[in-house]
Amino acid sequence: MRLPKTLEAILERAPEGRAPSKEERVQLLQVPEDSLDASTIKAVADIVARRRFRNTGILLGQIGVETAPCPGNCLFCVFGKEHTTLPPRRMSLDEIRQRAHGFAERGDLYALFLMTMHEFDLDWLVEVVRAVRQDAPSHTQNVVNIGDFDLCAAKRLKDAGVNGAYHVCRLGEGMDTSVSLDARKATFKVIKDVGMDFYYCCEPVGPEHRAEELVEQMFMGIDYECFQHAAMRRVYIPGAPLAHHGQITERRLAQVVSVVTLATLGCSETQSIAVHEPNPLGLSAGANTAYAETGANPRDVESDTAGSRGLDMAACRKMLYEAGFQSLRRGDGMTIDLDRDYLQVN
Ligand code: SF4
Repeated sequence: MRLPKTLEAILERAPEGRAPSKEERVQLLQVPEDSLDASTIKAVADIVARRRFRNTGILLGQIGVETAPCPGNCLFCVFGKEHTTLPPRRMSLDEIRQRAHGFAERGDLYALFLMTMHEFDLDWLVEVVRAVRQDAPSHTQNVVNIGDFDLCAAKRLKDAGVNGAYHVCRLGEGMDTSVSLDARKATFKVIKDVGMDFYYCCEPVGPEHRAEELVEQMFMGIDYECFQHAAMRRVYIPGAPLAHHGQITERRLAQVVSVVTLATLGCSETQSIAVHEPNPLGLSAGANTAYAETGANPRDVESDTAGSRGLDMAACRKMLYEAGFQSLRRGDGMTIDLDRDYLQVN
């Protein structure tokens, strides 16, 4: 069995840290997911990423702290205001603290994420950040996953202890959502200007997305020098307006992860790659990061994703171990050995 010469040439450059061009990324995504070519792309991305990240995994934990009919109205999300059936709810400060403690208690949580709807109460969020910051170990970072915000809000969040922000121009932004593309990009700039780590993702990938669209969307993260890149598939939610398109497989998602991984090779700021939701195929195709989730989740019809779609820390830790990662990186850059003994104790 032989690879096409053009593919061989692209993949041979990867170990030298040379990323494929935009056109080449399109070619990599157009390869059928059940081909030898696709398996080889994933294998090369895996090897290159493990070298790049020293075979170290990252554990992240996200708390969806509130739910409401969301004005973002994304057609792929369970909270879109024109189709949601979930009741509004906001967690109490005590509940958030307890859940944050549950994520951080073993000492290997790189960063705690707080997720709100597109619109959020900044004063309350600052209070929440301060509360979890006070309880969390100093080596755990704080990240927000919220709607668009300006420099003034970014400074307040940073002063309260926020280290980074997850922010994305989603596929179909402005058409499948009520959110403006320009507003998203303005927030990217704010995140970079204020000095926060920028977490990006190629999402939410569905079967209808063309390779060219995926490449354009993933390039924005690289353009803004993201700290973390990732890939996430759109989860099939019965009744959601985009449900009729169906859902890609974890195998296809792993191929997208591998192309994201290779695409970031020229971006020295990128220090981790994630796959949402975490799964062994993605973690063997370039991803080194797994997210545990609790509370609200845009991909879950249950109002609390803990015990439903959301994995807990133990499951994420074990998944990273089974995927062959030999250490875990904390938020202060120190690492912890990830071996059988550590798993048993933890
Ligand atoms: S994905 Fe985010 S912005 Fe869009 S509807 Fe859901 S919560 Fe709102």
